[in-house]
Amino acid sequence: MGRLLIEGASVVTLDPKLGDFAEGDILIEDDAIVAVGPDLGVTDAEVIDGRGQIAIPGFANTHLHTWQHSLRGVCADWTVKDYVRCWRIHLGPMYRPEDMYVGNYAGALDALNAGVTLVVDYCHNVVTRDHGREALRGLRDAGVRALFGLAYTPVLDHGFAAAPSFEVENPDLPDHDSRVAFAKQLAGEEFSSKDGLVTLAIIPQEIEIARSWDDVVVEFNSARDLDAQISIHANQSLTGHRWEDVRKLHKADLLGPDILFVHATFSAADELKAIADAGASVSVAPETEMQMGMGFPITAKLIELGVAPSLGVDITSNGSGDMFAQMRLALQVGRMLGDQPYYERNTMPEDVSLTTRQALEWATINGAKGAGLGDVTGTLTPGKQADVVLIDCNHFNLIGWDKSDPVGTVVMQANAGNVGTVTVGGKVVKRDGAMVGVDPKTVRDQVEGSAGYVRGWAGEHGGILPQPRIELGF
Ligand SMILES: [Zn+2]
Repeated sequence: MGRLLIEGASVVTLDPKLGDFAEGDILIEDDAIVAVGPDLGVTDAEVIDGRGQIAIPGFANTHLHTWQHSLRGVCADWTVKDYVRCWRIHLGPMYRPEDMYVGNYAGALDALNAGVTLVVDYCHNVVTRDHGREALRGLRDAGVRALFGLAYTPVLDHGFAAAPSFEVENPDLPDHDSRVAFAKQLAGEEFSSKDGLVTLAIIPQEIEIARSWDDVVVEFNSARDLDAQISIHANQSLTGHRWEDVRKLHKADLLGPDILFVHATFSAADELKAIADAGASVSVAPETEMQMGMGFPITAKLIELGVAPSLGVDITSNGSGDMFAQMRLALQVGRMLGDQPYYERNTMPEDVSLTTRQALEWATINGAKGAGLGDVTGTLTPGKQADVVLIDCNHFNLIGWDKSDPVGTVVMQANAGNVGTVTVGGKVVKRDGAMVGVDPKTVRDQVEGSAGYVRGWAGEHGGILPQPRIELGF
């Protein structure tokens, strides 16, 4: 790839030792950043003009069920109960391997287009081995940096359902042993090197609906045998009682810094402390949590305990893949909750309780750390991979931006449509507002083809969200 120079940008490195540069250059050699600073004086590199643009580290979206991307927006007015009815009981089992491919491919492209260079994919619809393989191929073809989160969730025998909406045979992954064996097989076949853009993560079953506690132990042990990060939905549900996933893991001595919990909204104080003590982290998905009845985002609570929160989109079958929205939602709900003690004393706060710089860190370096890649990406630090995003301030909504506060501008003013240029590992995947080497019409046809199949099947089986609603076990 050679040498690439981003010249004259407003550079927000998020590296506390480096600081920011009102006008700085970023020199990239092959896949890595080699220098950052004002006027590097490089003359032998391909140049990207950064003037009028803000350079930031690529966003890390630490929770995305990428496979659902082709039906974007269908959950717009749903709670999580309807989400479970639609996706996990009704539609998921009918997905074909090619639908998994298209969802992950188009979903990862959507992420890159929005400046997300790292995705923690949570692939909990591995109906057969081919579903898993195709989902992985989709991420790789898109060129995003990712954790491919292979889930142990049994798709066709679902613990959420009082009765599944229909029965299908699954001879390929009939039982728990076969799922554990497949993870090992995939690790050997596809992840023998950790150098690639995509690394393996393991997604244990949600503990409350796991077949047995023994299964849970086997799944956590398998992740550690495979040296894979772990991500798991936890403490996000009230089903007649509060889920105590973290407490159970703590009692069994299964907590560790390799766990990226998701939501954790209803965690008790001792559970949050256990997460902090273990060095684990939490992905907060403010948009789905606030919409779908999954509790209040716990960003501020985590910070109080010294846990570095990251941010997840969760599902583009509901909201956009735009991390700007997630930053603002998490920031403002955190500020709002932080004001409560003042209101209780009939007073008003002097200062905001959370800053825009913190929000940008949640969406970048904290996400990289949560994915186990804090040394690889997440800041614009020489030696790290060149995952860089340029926010183009020549767009109408950014004209007049406050040049003394690029962070405030990115967090409070910008949106995904302002993402001009994106590099992943030094490779330019988006330039001057257009994805490189990707034809949007081809991707549209792939997405519409897959969505057409799924919607067609749904049309013959009671719709996307069958009525009357499928009875849940809670
Ligand atoms: Zn989720």
